Amino acid sequence: MNITDKGLELYYDFHIHSCLSPCGSDEMTPQMIVDCAIAKELDCIALTDHNISGNCLSAISYAQGKDLIVLPGMELQTSEEIHVICIFPDIERAVPFESYVRSTLPPIKNDIRYFGNQTGVRPDGTTYEEEQMLAVSSDIPLYGLYPLVESYGGMAIPAHIDRTSFSIGSVLGMLDKSMGFPLVEVWKDPSLADAAGIPYIQSSDAHNIDAFFEREYHSFIADEKSADGIFRALKNIGAK
Ligand SMILES: [Zn+2]
Ligand SMILES: [Zn+2]
Repeated sequence: MNITDKGLELYYDFHIHSCLSPCGSDEMTPQMIVDCAIAKELDCIALTDHNISGNCLSAISYAQGKDLIVLPGMELQTSEEIHVICIFPDIERAVPFESYVRSTLPPIKNDIRYFGNQTGVRPDGTTYEEEQMLAVSSDIPLYGLYPLVESYGGMAIPAHIDRTSFSIGSVLGMLDKSMGFPLVEVWKDPSLADAAGIPYIQSSDAHNIDAFFEREYHSFIADEKSADGIFRALKNIGAK
């Protein structure tokens, strides 16, 4: 964190997968992610597993008393197979949204052989296997998603819009303000966001520790190093 004349410069990573994602490495326990984020001198992170927030409480609990803000969240897969980061200021607001998302997932059990294991980690460190298949689309459409997540107290940010799969760019071929998102996430190429005149953030989308450390980190200006301060700052970026 740097103190500037405009406010606090916070380093962030709002797109991280833990071992609960079928494609997430087993080493990515919520506790390990918190330790790595502190080692990387980040100020704030969000845990965003596919269609689930189950490991967020463990990360938040483990970060208590440490100099790191952990936002709960998930990477929602819409009915169009578009990935959208959904983040919340606290677990109390994340859990009801997760329950709703779960009710919209096809009731299929995960096949570990094809998709990988989905390890949930409780705050006491004990683990369980999440049976619901997470590598699927919800039946929640992209249009209307921003106000939906906002109604739960969170913020929806379309993920890696410039990627060649599971993105607004790859599925719809365009980005427009009429989609209702004031802020998007760019993987590498900001041209789509720039053309639409929509501000963007950049995160790691790390599925393993090496990727987490390799990715360059970015910052924004906030008035306070807190969950509420981060949300004010993100909404402020999106308002520009
Ligand atoms: Zn994704
Ligand atoms: Zn992701």
